[in-house]
Amino acid sequence: MNYRCRQRRFPYFAMEISNTPGKSQKGAREGGKGINLPSTRKLAPFRGKLLDWFGEHGRHFAWREPDASLYVRIVSEVLLQRTRAETVSAFMPSFLREYPTWETLVNVSESALAESLRPIGLYRRRASSLQRLAQEIVRRKHIYPTDREELESIPAVGQYVANAILLFAHASETPLLDSSMARLLRRYFNLIPTKADIRYDKLLQTMAYKTIEGGTAIFLNWAMLDLAALHCKPTSPSCNTCPLRRSCHFAKNSPVPPLRVAT
Ligand code: SF4
Repeated sequence: MNYRCRQRRFPYFAMEISNTPGKSQKGAREGGKGINLPSTRKLAPFRGKLLDWFGEHGRHFAWREPDASLYVRIVSEVLLQRTRAETVSAFMPSFLREYPTWETLVNVSESALAESLRPIGLYRRRASSLQRLAQEIVRRKHIYPTDREELESIPAVGQYVANAILLFAHASETPLLDSSMARLLRRYFNLIPTKADIRYDKLLQTMAYKTIEGGTAIFLNWAMLDLAALHCKPTSPSCNTCPLRRSCHFAKNSPVPPLRVAT
């Protein structure tokens, strides 16, 4: 698929898109076995519209730049949990000046690191998580495990950060599934929650993996996160201006004012 003509705001967009599917976490694609999945006919238009929209309207953050290091990408994902991307984006430059490498996170006291993280909240917990992750990565000489179980055995690495490491370090097709992406997927595909905790909702997890198949996993992840933040908000989603509105279950079944048609 060629997105070259649609990548006005992301000059590196076309370069990184390939038609070769990325490596997939073992078992992820078989996750649909035994699950009553919604029709996958909607997947291709879903991906296409998302990527088109992202090329024009995707948000720019330092961790998304093509030359962003693995360190920057993974640290930002740790900080993005439970925090708005714009808040992390404003905070990152000063943080990276103070802590430019995993080693600098190891060689500081946890209390000093917590103080540095105070402006974005949850600072004690984040300091502990970041430092334990940094210690492990330095101990492993910057070799990131490829195995999910091994990754999740690292202190402070949960499903979300493990997915981010697999996605960015190993080009594995893993979803950055958080509550925002979950909201979008549930509305669009009409996924009835089977578990309150999204980590254990097998249907949601399976659809999250399926939506990012096809070789553009990083961009599809970012596109879903951006669309959820800018259109598919928790309350009052702006369906009328959403690029997915024509095929979205929620939009088609909600009392949303009809689109104005030019006469
Ligand atoms: S049409 Fe509405 S509910 Fe559907 S994805 Fe877009 S904003 Fe969300």
